[in-house]
Amino acid sequence: MKRLKIFILALLLAAPAWAQVDTAQQVEPNRRNSVAQMQKPYVIMISADGFRYDYADKYDAANLKNFRELGVQAESMLPSFPSKTFPNHYTLVTGMYPATHGLINNYFYDPQRKEHYSMRDRKQVEDGSWYGGVPLWVLAERNQLLSASFYWVGSEAPVQNTRPTYWYKYNEDIPFEARVQTVVDWLRLPEAERPHLITFYLPEVDHAAHRYGPDAPETEQSVKELDARLKQLTEAVAVTGLPVNYIFVSDHGMIQIDQENTLPLPAAVDTAKFLVSGGGMVVELHAKNKKDIKPTYRKLKKEAGGAYKVYTKSNIPKHLHYGKKADKYNRVGDILLLTDAPKVFHFSSRKPAPGAHGYDPTAVKEMHATFYAWGPGFKEGVKTAAFSNVQVYAIVARLLGLEYSHNIDGDGTVAKEVLK
Ligand code: AMP
Ligand code: ZN
Ligand code: ZN
Repeated sequence: MKRLKIFILALLLAAPAWAQVDTAQQVEPNRRNSVAQMQKPYVIMISADGFRYDYADKYDAANLKNFRELGVQAESMLPSFPSKTFPNHYTLVTGMYPATHGLINNYFYDPQRKEHYSMRDRKQVEDGSWYGGVPLWVLAERNQLLSASFYWVGSEAPVQNTRPTYWYKYNEDIPFEARVQTVVDWLRLPEAERPHLITFYLPEVDHAAHRYGPDAPETEQSVKELDARLKQLTEAVAVTGLPVNYIFVSDHGMIQIDQENTLPLPAAVDTAKFLVSGGGMVVELHAKNKKDIKPTYRKLKKEAGGAYKVYTKSNIPKHLHYGKKADKYNRVGDILLLTDAPKVFHFSSRKPAPGAHGYDPTAVKEMHATFYAWGPGFKEGVKTAAFSNVQVYAIVARLLGLEYSHNIDGDGTVAKEVLK
């Protein structure tokens, strides 16, 4: 009895924390499609977090396999380095590499601002000044074409002073059915208010594979559930009769890491001289005084002895697009420590989770992501070779007839290959 009372008291005390979850739809006022834009088709870009390039086959996702046959399937899609959620979701909607758009990792340090960005910090997630580039929804809204986001990294912040017309604060409390209903409701709005670009994000597969590993039955189950949900979503949308193009992507893959033999912070790192950010497969060291970079770099090279790679911002391999030249916001560390799969740096006493991602995608195939697309704008029965996720921007822009003149890292080659 006493236990029950304590339990109820605990629940009551916890109630304010639940009440803080904001599940309301946010609507930007006074937005309308221009008359010309009302004629445009629709795009639903779905991201299943951590949906590895081979999951549909490995776990026999029957619906996805059907959908990709109707349109385009890439052998895989290469995430940008580091293969983490925030940098890659934002790359997908800006066409820029992480160092170029500024969201270089889920957590990072900005030496000019003297601030740490964290994907867990709502204030920073919603602060537009962290985000570079021109997200697809900003491009759309600038052209008086409405957009909606049922979650996407960056959509909660006024990037270039612009959010999607309809958006949500990220939370995992709204049931899938309710989210599908909202998408259908959006597509049933009067033409002037109807969004043509919808982003839709699903976290479950990534969660399962972190916790149980990419080969676990729980991950298989999660892929199967996602596959069933996609059928629900597309069937509900089909009822509207609108010309909808689907792009199904993920941000990265997943690999089983070595949980037992993790790497500690190297002794050569003097934390009085360097600010340490990151962990796992990428550790970034920011020198408080630039004169400490060279000697520490040399010491680290010696200490590493091949157990991990040591780079400076000047000699990090070009293909990672993470060096001085790409680092537009000066957020990349002065020294970078990179592990090879399946090794990770780990600085806490708790055992790391079995599944992880973040490695160089050109070296670790398990990091590869998924790209399938189908709908009236896509060619049918096309299989492409692997391509970089900086190419997605041009595909969406062309589908919606949106022009842009700012520089991005992607070009139009894949768009040309896959669109009618
Ligand atoms: P990771 O797999 O470590 O790269 O981190 C992915 C996590 O980001 C997932 O657990 C998601 O729940 C979370 N996430 C995705 N989008 C958002 C968002 N807009 N705001 C906050 N967290 C997010
Ligand atoms: Zn992710
Ligand atoms: Zn993840």
